[in-house]
Amino acid sequence: MNAAAVGGPIVVLHDHLDGGVRPQTVLDLASAYDVAVPARDVQELAEWFTITPGMPFVEAFSRFDLVGAVLQTPAALVRVAREAVEDLAADGVVHAELRFAPMLHTLQGMTPAQAIEAVDAGLREAAATTGLDARIIVCAMRDQPEEVSIEAIRAAVNSGCDRVVGVDLAGGEVGHPAADHAAAFALAHDAGLGVTIHAGEMDGAHQVASALDTCAPHRIGHGWRIIDDCVIEHDRIVALGPIATALRASGAPLEICLTSNACLGVPVADHPVRLLRDAGFQVTLNPDDRAITTTSARRELELAAEHHGFTRHDVAQAMERAAVAAFLPDGERAALVERVRAGWDVTPARIVHLAAREEWEAARRRGSYLPVGFAADGFVHLSSLQQLLTPANRFYSGRGDLVALVIDAHFLGSSLVWEPGTGTDEYFPHLYGALTPEAVLGEFEMTPCADGSFLLPNALIRAVGRSLAE
Ligand SMILES: [Zn+2]
Repeated sequence: MNAAAVGGPIVVLHDHLDGGVRPQTVLDLASAYDVAVPARDVQELAEWFTITPGMPFVEAFSRFDLVGAVLQTPAALVRVAREAVEDLAADGVVHAELRFAPMLHTLQGMTPAQAIEAVDAGLREAAATTGLDARIIVCAMRDQPEEVSIEAIRAAVNSGCDRVVGVDLAGGEVGHPAADHAAAFALAHDAGLGVTIHAGEMDGAHQVASALDTCAPHRIGHGWRIIDDCVIEHDRIVALGPIATALRASGAPLEICLTSNACLGVPVADHPVRLLRDAGFQVTLNPDDRAITTTSARRELELAAEHHGFTRHDVAQAMERAAVAAFLPDGERAALVERVRAGWDVTPARIVHLAAREEWEAARRRGSYLPVGFAADGFVHLSSLQQLLTPANRFYSGRGDLVALVIDAHFLGSSLVWEPGTGTDEYFPHLYGALTPEAVLGEFEMTPCADGSFLLPNALIRAVGRSLAE
């Protein structure tokens, strides 16, 4: 493992409060509240705690039942919220959104509002000592009736707490489509909260469709089963079905959680994270349930590097995407993106430009290329490999006259500037000057799919990807 590949500030978008409780804390709380524990000491509890690959869902979820049983007082929630932030900060996390379902903490009379207040208090305490000011995502549960979801989302909307930045739908997917909770998420949208939905984790791509169609999520929790709606040939995605097309076009980032998915579905090495990323889906990397699945925020980056060949630049880009997708006020989000970019300090050695074939042919004969759009924009739009697809699909849909130019960034010198793209916090490379043909390492034909969208030619991925591994 190349440790340098994963050394940089981490953004965590998907982390469950009840999945990350320290085993020692579970023991302490169980003893304080007289809850039976299937272990005599912390070692035994940690072993029992760990969900192993292939474990039946019912057995896996019994871990959450134990944690839930000890988290029924404000004091317990304050403690685990504080400790979660301490653990994340120690791991190098600079922004975290911790999620929990207040309705699961009402068994002994605590109200959802009190539960949110308690988590907020724990985060406030931890922010003072660690500098990590984590935020709260309030979860509704799929297997509860919609009235209960509405009560949870109302509690989030009415909390008056600045740290409550978003809402989520969690819990067993099978038989409980997001559509059943659409009214709850409409409330969240009306209140301006971020919306993320667990979908395509334990059930198929149709659950992603239900979430997209009825809840308008800004992000998707997991979503890896969208791969069932993709056509794969020679280890790459060559065509998208209707749901995958809609997901990619929505731009909603996937909160990928490799270890968690390995426990409940797909071995890490077989996870489609790389395929999805190369096909233009927005990929972020997250721990999900740190204690129960024995992982950490940084461990998830290591797994992407170890099993899926993520380079330092790939990991940095996943972190940048997570920063851009953070549920934060605009100014704070822009500052986070800056911090992540500066902390990883990587720019790809090779970048790409989509040119109209005729314009490029003429320019090559002339020895210098400036696209027609230069006069209006003042610069040439370039993209990293991963960025290429989104703008390509947005601006060039259906065009059959495009050639992708792979450019050696070193040739461009200081006329290459990374700055926010139009209408986004994400940084794109802009070239303030003409492109000379000697900077172009290769040219690749771009052919639109039947629906007008683009998938990258394999040879193009290889031409750019090689340089990233150097
Ligand atoms: Zn989750």
